[in-house]
Formats: sequence, structure tokens, C-alpha cells
Amino acid sequence: MKRIIIDIISEAFGADEIDIVMPNEYRELGAIVWSKKGQAMSRKKVDAESDLHTIIHEWLGGTANEPAVCKGGKQVCMPVAKGGTRLALIVIRVDEPAYQVSQVPLIQAMANHIAVAFDNAMLYQIAITDELTGLYSPRYFRQAISKRHAMFDEFGEKMTLLMVDIDDFKKINDTYGHPAGDAILKEVGRCLLSAIRTDDLAFRYGGEEFTVILPETSPSAGRAVAERMRSLIEHFPFKADQHVLTVTVSIGIASWPASADTIKEIILEADKALYEAKHSGKNRVVVRTV
Ligand code: GH3
Ligand code: MG
Ligand code: MG
Repeated sequence: MKRIIIDIISEAFGADEIDIVMPNEYRELGAIVWSKKGQAMSRKKVDAESDLHTIIHEWLGGTANEPAVCKGGKQVCMPVAKGGTRLALIVIRVDEPAYQVSQVPLIQAMANHIAVAFDNAMLYQIAITDELTGLYSPRYFRQAISKRHAMFDEFGEKMTLLMVDIDDFKKINDTYGHPAGDAILKEVGRCLLSAIRTDDLAFRYGGEEFTVILPETSPSAGRAVAERMRSLIEHFPFKADQHVLTVTVSIGIASWPASADTIKEIILEADKALYEAKHSGKNRVVVRTV
């Protein structure tokens, strides 16, 4: 999404620097800021004394809702909103004065365009996200694994798949109730996310089962990741009904090309490994290599 916005803006405005500010209630600033200068895009720390800080504050406070050309034509502020919801504030800068107040209607038209793109991206995000855990959805798993398989087919790119299942989850539900079980599922999802890199993908695969795709990862490196997850979860203080409880997971692993060549095979092999982990005592990792 950020990339799309940057591309549209760079082309239309020939900007030297673009900041994209998105509301985020978990940040002290109330927003998260991405900045692109030259080719590099990175998160930006906003100095409390800076001009940008003031602009963000005004925007979040509900003023500064209209596009504006400022700093003698060197800066454009473009709020993006839809149906009264603030989606983003885009701040565009050039080193030499280039913008005029007469361009405001054009800037507004562009903001409306971006709002539609934002809306579509958010709908897509909702479609590929599991509501309870915030991980990717089972439907998106099928898409993602197909994409990885194409990379394997074409370039021989290896991949490791983890199949993670919570141990004795039925007991947890029976003892503490379904809502407490839901809270634990959410927390397990967070543990999985905290154990992986940004290129790895974690999915809710079914009820209390998860899958993790580790691109360009060997079975042994995959085992190390799985072991880290297993240990993290085993030692995590899960809470239910004011009790602290221990939750464990079993993990089955299969890889391209070490244990399979097709999507069907890799899922089957990871499943077999998981079955083995369950039947040899749970709370363990089993790697399938054929
Ligand atoms: P095992 O160690 O062999 O995996 O045992 P288990 O009890 O975890 O496995 P089993 O398949 O017997 O039970 C899974 C339970 O997960 C049963 C089901 O009610 C519960 N479950 C599935 N989806 C959800 C959910 O979304 N929320 C809650 N709270 N429970 C769920
Ligand atoms: Mg289970
Ligand atoms: Mg299960």
C-alpha cells in the first residue's frame, strides 16, 4: 500500500521527500510515519519540536482536513479521508519551490484516488486475515503456498512448512470455557509471530492449528525456528480465569525439496510429522525428511 502511494505521488509531484502518516493508537504520537527520501523508505521518528509534529497533531485533532500548499511552494500536505474517516496524511516536499495554491483542486482529486486505493487495500487485508488471531486466514494460506510453490518450480527455491497444533486444547476449553480458549489462541498467535522474521508468514490453518511458511529455509533452520516457538510457548505465562497456565504445542515440519515436491505432499508430510510429535509425547518438534 505504501509503495503504491509513493509511486503515484512521485510520478505526479516529482517529490524529493514523501512522508506517509497513518493513525495508530498504540503509538505515543498517535500515528506511525513512513518516509521516502531518494530510493530508501523507512520508519521515521518524529521530533517533538518539528514542524511535522505540529502538522500531525493538528490533523489528528480534526483540523487541517484540507489539502494545503505551504513553505512557499516547497511542501504539500494532503489529508486522505473516506466517509469522515482519516486514513492517512501525506506530506510531500521538494527542495526548490514547485507547487502553487492553484493546484489544490488537483491535489484533492489525487487524495480521493488514494482514498479508494486505501479502501481496497483494507478490504483485501480483512479478506486475508483471521479475525480472532490477526494471523493470515486459511484461504490466504492456499494462495501463499501456491506462490511459494511457483518459486520452487521455477527457481528451485527451497521452503520449510511448519504445522503447529496446540496440545490438549480441548481440556483448556473444557476447564476454563470457550472465551478463555479464544484468548489463548490469540496469545499463541502472537507468540508465533514473535518467533519469525518479516519474510515468514503465519496462518491460522484451522481451529487450534496453525501453519508457518518459512521461505528459502532449510529443514534444519526450520527446526531451529520451530524449537524457538515451542520453547517460547511452553514458558509463556498464559492466563485464564486468573490462573496462570502452561500451554504447549507440537510442531511437524516438512520442506521442499528435502521431503516433498508438491503442495499436497508437503502438507501431507508436515501432517505426518505432527502426528508423530503428538504420538511420541507432544510438546515437541518432528522434522520429516524422506
Ligand atoms: P491434541 O493434543 O491431540 O491436539 O488434543 P486437542 O484437545 O488439542 O485436540 P482436539 O482436536 O481433540 O480438540 C481441539 C479443540 O479445539 C476442540 C475445539 O473445540 C477447540 N477449538 C477449535 N477451534 C476453536 C476456537 O476457535 N476457539 C476455541 N476456544 N476452541 C476451539
Ligand atoms: Mg490440538
Ligand atoms: Mg487439532
